[in-house]
Amino acid sequence: MNPLLVVLCSPSGGGKTTIARELLARRQDVGFSVSATTRPPRENERQGVDYHFLTREEFLRRRDRGEFLEWAEYLGHLYGTLQSEVDRLLAGGRHVILDIEIEGAGQVRARRGDVVAIFVLPPSVGELVDRLQGRASERPRELAQRLARAAREVQEAERFDYVVLNDDREQAVASVSGIIDAAAHRAVHQPQLAETMERLRRALDAKAQQLAP
Ligand code: 5GP
Repeated sequence: MNPLLVVLCSPSGGGKTTIARELLARRQDVGFSVSATTRPPRENERQGVDYHFLTREEFLRRRDRGEFLEWAEYLGHLYGTLQSEVDRLLAGGRHVILDIEIEGAGQVRARRGDVVAIFVLPPSVGELVDRLQGRASERPRELAQRLARAAREVQEAERFDYVVLNDDREQAVASVSGIIDAAAHRAVHQPQLAETMERLRRALDAKAQQLAP
């Protein structure tokens, strides 16, 4: 099966990172693109695992060298997907999940027509706030900024290929997993299909001739 580029988008606190991590734990054919960011690490975050934490200078230098597939500014910090990260995972035959915000998602979709874009909707404002407050690093001002941004982001949901309501984590993980499987079977995502069809056609013709009276 051809590996896919999968964009998983939701407002911050919408649960997309949890879904991505769950998929990663369950499926060997899925890889997670570790983004670069200038945001300082939270207490539980590790360099190279959750993010590649870079200084602003380093980020801008790498951006100017064209190393990012997409990048965006989010609440004063820069975030970006490293092309090398995506290439490495795709070359290994794995579907690549990009856990990114909406602006970056738009850039990826503009550059790569074959991307599978999934929007994860939070079930309620209450749950979103709970999740964000659960992160010790989120101060009231930042929380308000993230919520204001979320209000804008949810309006974009219907422009995505698929929308998953995250009211049940297990169900949401199953839905995203099912979407990846279904998308991988789409004819347009199988460039080797023409060859397979031609091989089958030839074999069928040969068999038909052999059996003809
Ligand atoms: P957080 O600071 O909560 O880790 O991330 C803030 C937002 O940035 C989230 O919506 C997250 O998905 C998004 N984000 C993380 N990595 C990237 C990236 O590489 N590119 C873009 N455009 N957004 C990202």
